[in-house]
Amino acid sequence: MKVLVIGTGAREHALCRSLSQDPAVSELHCAPGNAGIARVATLHPVDQLDGAAVTALAQELGADLVVVGPEAPLVAGVAEPLRAAGIPVFGPGREAAQLEGSKAFAKDVMAAAGVPTARSYVCTTEQEAAEALDAFGAPYVVKDDGLAAGKGVVVTEDRAAALEHAVACGRVVIEEYLDGPEVSLFAITDGTTVLPLVPAQDFKRALDGDLGPNTGGMGAYSPLPWAPEGLVAEVLESVLQPTVDELRHRGTPFSGLLYAGLALTSRGTRVIEFNARFGDPETQVVLARLRTPLAGVLLAAANGTLGELEPLRWSEEAAVTVVMASEGYPASPRTGDPIEGLDAAEADGTAFVLHAGTAPGPDGEVLTAGGRVLSVTAVGADLAEARAKAYAGVAAISFKGAQHRTDIAARAAQ
Ligand code: AMP
Repeated sequence: MKVLVIGTGAREHALCRSLSQDPAVSELHCAPGNAGIARVATLHPVDQLDGAAVTALAQELGADLVVVGPEAPLVAGVAEPLRAAGIPVFGPGREAAQLEGSKAFAKDVMAAAGVPTARSYVCTTEQEAAEALDAFGAPYVVKDDGLAAGKGVVVTEDRAAALEHAVACGRVVIEEYLDGPEVSLFAITDGTTVLPLVPAQDFKRALDGDLGPNTGGMGAYSPLPWAPEGLVAEVLESVLQPTVDELRHRGTPFSGLLYAGLALTSRGTRVIEFNARFGDPETQVVLARLRTPLAGVLLAAANGTLGELEPLRWSEEAAVTVVMASEGYPASPRTGDPIEGLDAAEADGTAFVLHAGTAPGPDGEVLTAGGRVLSVTAVGADLAEARAKAYAGVAAISFKGAQHRTDIAARAAQ
């Protein structure tokens, strides 16, 4: 099988790493990729938002499967020309991707499907926003309706700041605050059959103790020893299957990866958000535990044959990933610094390093090229061991101004 992966981040590196280990994959390509992905796949400098260019590349390569990693190309409709050309695609079309592309659309789907989520209002004027804020009270939750790369949500006690965000965004969803721990549960679906993966938890805030600004995610772990038994079955029944069924009934079936961000509140499980693709950094730990070869699963989702697959097989081991970010992330990340110690971090097979914002330098060195730079990942017999190994990998790596959280999976590992 010839596989083309679209994207540039550590999520795509994790996908490529798993695909490269699948004996069914004869050729692996990635566009545009990064310095780490280049070690397992052939890179192609193609604009990932350009559906015609991606389709031309897939045709030229004779790709049997295209896996679209990030949300932006999905929402831009990159899957459509690929499907029109008869190429199997893992990832939803433009309309189904609105589940992530518009928070208001997601709320509408959830209401129609009876999926439990926070009560909310869609607001387009300052007065509507002010009324919605006062209806729910503090803490205030204001979400940009459109895609904002994980930075569109403000959760604050400060009413003025909440209102300011609402006005700045224009169209927002304002909703009730959900308390309780968060869980990310991914499911692979072909539009009918839904296969949940194992739950993971990520760490959204930049600093230890969940302080500092929201980021794209600073680390993740799986499994969740504290999660209630039966959680996956409950979420499949109350969230994932009804959502997939609703989109199919609307004539816009969702195939690909459905990501449910959940809050386990005192009043039950609630959806915080949907994403239309693998989450980053949770993918790094979920795929580290997947034993079933990945390509056949993604192809079955693309071809509508997931129902014929054997159940997925999982490692009993735990996985932890720690994100190393550049100085100034998330506000104004510094780039262009050489990264030392990449080989040392992987030397004894303890950890493996997934690249996010990296680029090859002129003399063969690897340079920082984005906010989140690396995702240092390890598996172990339990979370404590996986954590120790991941942090040993982090300790081996250095670049100017590097920052990481020191408490990823710390509480869960105790
Ligand atoms: P999102 O970009 O939708 O994942 O939101 C970013 C983060 O904001 C989430 O991971 C939550 O921690 C927080 N958040 C979003 N919606 C709510 C809510 N209704 N109540 C409490 N926290 C929320």
